Amino acid sequence: MPLLVNLRNLARRELALQGELPVAELDLELRDEMVQARQPLRYDLEVQELNDSVLARGELELTLDCQCVRCLKPFEYRLEVADWVCHLPLEGDDKVSVVDDSVDLTPQIREDILLTFPAHPVCDPQCGGLAGRSSGAKKKPATNAPRPAGSAWDKLDKLKL
Ligand SMILES: [Zn+2]
Repeated sequence: MPLLVNLRNLARRELALQGELPVAELDLELRDEMVQARQPLRYDLEVQELNDSVLARGELELTLDCQCVRCLKPFEYRLEVADWVCHLPLEGDDKVSVVDDSVDLTPQIREDILLTFPAHPVCDPQCGGLAGRSSGAKKKPATNAPRPAGSAWDKLDKLKL
């Protein structure tokens, strides 16, 4: 089922819509192997009719199954749109189609959720990539800094010898 709003239910009152939308309904056509959507999209919306239009706003949440582009580790990436707003005109040139007294929010959700997709998913901003995963080389503090001559370090070195 797409996410439909029945206009009859909207007459003179707000409608609270909460639930899950099967990700197949969004028809995301993902071509990026690093980003997959398998889990349903969760929504928590308030919908009202306003001046010959439908106004929906609320939260959208979708968990993606990603693969880190640096270290190839699979990880979950949670997309959250905290203040999603969607305005659907019922009159005029841009008016949305009404089928069986209902308008479909799915195309707008699809469009807006796609905008928030990560282009290059990384498991962690600090991810050092494949090499860094085993040795942690990138995280090691720089040790090549020149030591001041005659410092305590030099004495320590001599002690060790
Ligand atoms: Zn990574």
